[in-house]
Amino acid sequence: MNFTETRGNDGQMPKEVTFSEAILNPSASFGGLYVPKELPKLEENFLQNHLNSSYKELAYDILKAFEIDIDEDEIKKALDLYDNFDDPSDPCPVVKVKDDLFVHEQYHGPTRAFKDMALQPFGSILSSIAKKRDEKYLILAATSGDTGPAALNTFKNKENIQVACMYPDGGTSDVQRLQMVCEDGENLKVIGIKGNFDDAQSALKRLLASDTFKEELKNDGIKLSAANSVNFGRIIFQIIYHFWSYIQLLKQEEITFGEKIYLVVPSGNFGNVLGGFYALKMGVPIEKLLVASNENNILTEWINTGIYDIRGKDLKLTKSPAMDILKSSNIERVIYSLYGAQRTKEFMDNLNENNVFEMTEEETAQLKEYFSAVNSDDNYGKVTIKSFMDNDYLMDPHTATCIKAYEELKEKDLKTVIYSTAEWTKFSPTVLNAIKNDNNFLSDKEALQIISENYNQSLPSTIEKLFSLPVIHDSIIDKKDIEKEITKFIREI
Ligand SMILES: *Cc1c(COP(=O)(O)O)cnc(C)c1O
Repeated sequence: MNFTETRGNDGQMPKEVTFSEAILNPSASFGGLYVPKELPKLEENFLQNHLNSSYKELAYDILKAFEIDIDEDEIKKALDLYDNFDDPSDPCPVVKVKDDLFVHEQYHGPTRAFKDMALQPFGSILSSIAKKRDEKYLILAATSGDTGPAALNTFKNKENIQVACMYPDGGTSDVQRLQMVCEDGENLKVIGIKGNFDDAQSALKRLLASDTFKEELKNDGIKLSAANSVNFGRIIFQIIYHFWSYIQLLKQEEITFGEKIYLVVPSGNFGNVLGGFYALKMGVPIEKLLVASNENNILTEWINTGIYDIRGKDLKLTKSPAMDILKSSNIERVIYSLYGAQRTKEFMDNLNENNVFEMTEEETAQLKEYFSAVNSDDNYGKVTIKSFMDNDYLMDPHTATCIKAYEELKEKDLKTVIYSTAEWTKFSPTVLNAIKNDNNFLSDKEALQIISENYNQSLPSTIEKLFSLPVIHDSIIDKKDIEKEITKFIREI
């Protein structure tokens, strides 16, 4: 199947591209994104036929339905990476926590956050295409904490790929920082930026748009690509686990076939919930997608009012930092799917020029057929983590935002799956403050130790050993020196 452009065609770029093209060069005409020309229709009994499939078998059959131009053995090799998760037969378990409430735990991969679900296989696929084409790629990543470790882990020592990852110095948790600066691979460069995440992100955008930088790379025979969720290569792997949610509830005999369920997704860039939207469109019986956000409530506002307005808004730093966002990239794909390319271009042009776009009442009503949204603050998260811990379930601050949606947005009495996007180990000081209902400052190392010892939680060895690994990447630089630093790195290897 081919891929088309969300903002229409500019007459210069191809009107449609293959999957390989879309993931190697993820930027389409007018700054748009690539989406599948149509979503594959699965056979009627697809869900029932996969009741006893392994995750990998399910994933393989869904990918096959997309008819992507990737060799069978490369797909299988990519999916084999789920074998590195805690339980290879069930990489993302769906756990019952209340009568009608289930947690889909997406953090059982190597870096303990949901980014591994897609980045693990994506890294393998991207590198195999690059190798096959005999092309070299530089992957740029700017991270507020979870994408960086997952991208470094997946691309480590992959042929034909180099990664330069920028993080805001002082803006990530200790665990997240160590997961990056201790990651050892010849093809990896990790750079701390003196500034915040926005500074790292703008540096990345500047480089992606810089002709001189691209020219320099070209001289070295290197092309640029991106590993964030504008890349459909990540989204395709984020469709699969929503099927898995439904199949798990069927297997656990919590629902009967055809019964609808709610999905609740803690959202930032909207990539996770977009996968749910596609799964719904492909036939999974989902009543509605409930979107949870934090005090940066731009998504809640958009879904409730049809107006996306970031004028005069500043990013707030919260205890669920992976959802701290103003411009959410993947809403564009939903907009395209519901209203077409012309409207998408109008909205996105407005957003870029005026920091706002406004949908009609009719369009908003259409959006609300699929999505509802609510936001909550850090205090709500704290109380929620504590109350679930009192019942022996430990969740991270991102997951906690889902409970508000579960409590307030359900209109029908249906089973609900919430997505747990990070393990408590990535945000242990916040989690400990919640459990003890205090505000004491502790380091990640101290909080990890206290929680694992006093609250009977197991600590994955990958997290525990971080504190004794040597630091490989120690450059902390000024924003203005980024280009120089990256160019130097490329020339070194
Ligand atoms: C990335 C991330 C999110 C947000 O996911 P999107 O796909 O960007 O909406 C939520 N929680 C955690 C822990 C994350 O790492």
